[in-house]
Amino acid sequence: MISAKAWAAKTATSPLAPFSFSRRDVGPHDVLIEIAYCGVCHSDIHQARDEWGGSIFPMVPGHEIVGKVTKVGSSVHKFKVGDLAGVGCMVDSCRTCASCGEGLEQYCEGHAVVTYNGLEKDLKTPTYGGYSNCIVVDEKYTLKIPANLDLAASAPLLCAGVTTWSPLVHWKAGPGMKVGVIGLGGLGHMAVKLAASMGAEVTVFSTSKAKEADARRLGAKSFVETSSAGAMEANARIMDLMINTVSAPHDMDAYLNLLKRDGTMVLVGVSPERIPVSAFSVIGKRRRLAGSLIGGIKETQEMLDYCGKHGIVSDIELIPVKDINDAYERMIAGKVRYRFVIDMKTL
Ligand code: NAP
Ligand code: ZN
Ligand code: ZN
Repeated sequence: MISAKAWAAKTATSPLAPFSFSRRDVGPHDVLIEIAYCGVCHSDIHQARDEWGGSIFPMVPGHEIVGKVTKVGSSVHKFKVGDLAGVGCMVDSCRTCASCGEGLEQYCEGHAVVTYNGLEKDLKTPTYGGYSNCIVVDEKYTLKIPANLDLAASAPLLCAGVTTWSPLVHWKAGPGMKVGVIGLGGLGHMAVKLAASMGAEVTVFSTSKAKEADARRLGAKSFVETSSAGAMEANARIMDLMINTVSAPHDMDAYLNLLKRDGTMVLVGVSPERIPVSAFSVIGKRRRLAGSLIGGIKETQEMLDYCGKHGIVSDIELIPVKDINDAYERMIAGKVRYRFVIDMKTL
């Protein structure tokens, strides 16, 4: 076994604190990654605080992992020692179901092994995430990071990047399409950068007027402060596609009304509480309410290669690991510009 250091939540109500545990030895298909940086996703907060239910403690969060390969198993082909490597939200899946066969492992009909707060295939051993000095992952679920990108700023591509990339590609964002992004946080700012790079006309819908200049700098053509009187009504029925990244309960009907006839809202944000939707918000204009979960391994690599080609990374604030509990509070207050990334040298 490999001894690992990390920061963990011991219970749903305790702040994160230092934690030691063991990783499995490097198997024939595994790579050992020395983690350089790990992004902080709002899903880390939801799970560390057990807001979705079923959390497993102690929990080492973190699924936006980048670092260097320090050891490879005897059958590994894709990586050699010294290569850059990334790990996102999944570290294994059943590999035999139809979804796995189509490269959509995130929708595995068997058991997908999530990077943390999950169980290995033995259904007994808990998984531990990236707020840690190292991780052992099967090479099949390990990504190649383009060498031209800033390494720390590329970490959030592993979740925030692919989670917004996947629906934008699936629903064919591109020239002539009006794409709305709801919530300018970690996912939202990646959605703006990616949709704008694809040629779509992007509008940001935000509760924070102070983010307007950033929204435009990131590539948005328009900005709507959602709480400003009459702003939502003034933008009714204009969007083709909306990526909804809101992490808390909100008025879905008001946002659905922004869609044109046949427009689609894709929910990626995961409010811990149920969000009511009026039938009238969808039936009148034949609108669609859809959902999307991260992205498969193949499309994650395609997104990383695309970002390498177009020089797209996340806007980050690099923090020492001791600041993680403050970082959570700032994210909940909508005060992150736009993704915290932990510098693992500070562990
Ligand atoms: P984040 O950085 O905290 O951003 C969320 C943004 O939502 C905030 O910055 C804020 O933007 C807006 N917001 C927050 N509360 C709101 C409210 N009550 N009403 C309206 N807007 C509100 O979080 P994130 O890391 O981007 O994650 C966003 C959500 O996506 C989380 O629920 C996370 O669990 C989920 N997620 C889902 C997937 C998936 O596969 N589907 C993957 C990763 C994350 P403004 O200040 O601009 O209003
Ligand atoms: Zn995430
Ligand atoms: Zn499967």
